[in-house]
Amino acid sequence: MLSINQLHAQVEDKEILKGLSLEIKPGEIHAIMGPNGAGKSTLGNVLSGREGYEVTGGSVQFKGQNLLDMDTEERAREGLFLAFQYPVEIPGVSNMEFLKAAVDAKRKHHGQSELSAVEFMKLARETSKQVSLDPNFLKRGVNEGFSGGEKKRNEIMQMMLLEPKLCILDETDSGLDIDALQVVADGVNAMRATDRSFIVVTHYQRLLDYIVPDYVHVLANGRIVKSGDKSLALELEEKGYGWLEGEVA
Ligand code: ADP
Ligand code: MG
Ligand code: MG
Repeated sequence: MLSINQLHAQVEDKEILKGLSLEIKPGEIHAIMGPNGAGKSTLGNVLSGREGYEVTGGSVQFKGQNLLDMDTEERAREGLFLAFQYPVEIPGVSNMEFLKAAVDAKRKHHGQSELSAVEFMKLARETSKQVSLDPNFLKRGVNEGFSGGEKKRNEIMQMMLLEPKLCILDETDSGLDIDALQVVADGVNAMRATDRSFIVVTHYQRLLDYIVPDYVHVLANGRIVKSGDKSLALELEEKGYGWLEGEVA
C-alpha cells in the first residue's frame, strides 16, 4: 500500500523529516506516536502533497506508483485521504456541495458516472446518521461554526463517502471528548478492510483501546526510532519518550 524509504522533507528551509522509512501493507493499521514537534503532522502533509512541504530526498510508493510525482488532487483521487486537513471554514460552499464534488471527482476518475443530487442526498443522509450528525448539518457551510467534535464527525463522514485506500488520521492536540473518540473509532473499525490501510497519529494511548493497531511507531526528530506492536503504546504511556533519547540522537 505504502512504502516510504529514507524520506527527507523540509518546511521553510528547515529539515523536518530526516530519513523516515515506513512500510504499510494492505489491511494494516499503523499508529504513530511521538513527542510534540517530531514531524508527525509534517509526514501527513508531505504524503498528501500539501503546498510548502518540500521533499528533498527519498522515495514514496503508493499502490506501486510514485506518490511524489502526483499532485494533491491525483493523490486524493487515487485513494489517499488525510483527515482533519480542512480546518478552515469555506463560507458559501455547503458541506453537501463540497462532499458531492469530492465524491464525483473520485467516481469520474474511476470511470463511474456522477451521482444525481437525489442519490447523493440519500447516501449522505445515511452516512451522517452513522456518525451521529444531524443531516441538517449537510446544508451548513464547510466547517462553518462546527465544534471540534462536529469537525471530526464530519471528517469521518467524508472518509466513509470517499472510501479511500489509505486513510491518515491526524488528531488535534486539543483532544476528543469520549463521544467523538467513539465516533472516530467506530468509523475506522467499520471501514477496516483487507484492501484499506490506516495511519493513526495520536497522543493518546486511550484511542488505541478502540482502534487496535497492528503496529505502533515512535516518530522522533524526523524519523521512526522505534516500532512495536500495540503493547509499545502502553509502554510509552508509562515511560514517556525520554528513554528513547539515545535512539533519537
Ligand atoms: P508534530 O505533529 O509531531 O507535533 P509537526 O510536524 O507539526 O510536529 O512539526 C514539526 C516541526 O516542523 C516543528 O518544529 C514545526 O514548527 C515545524 N513546522 C511544521 N509545519 C510548519 C510550517 N507550515 N511552517 C513552519 N514550520 C513548520
Ligand atoms: Mg504537535
Ligand atoms: Mg501534529
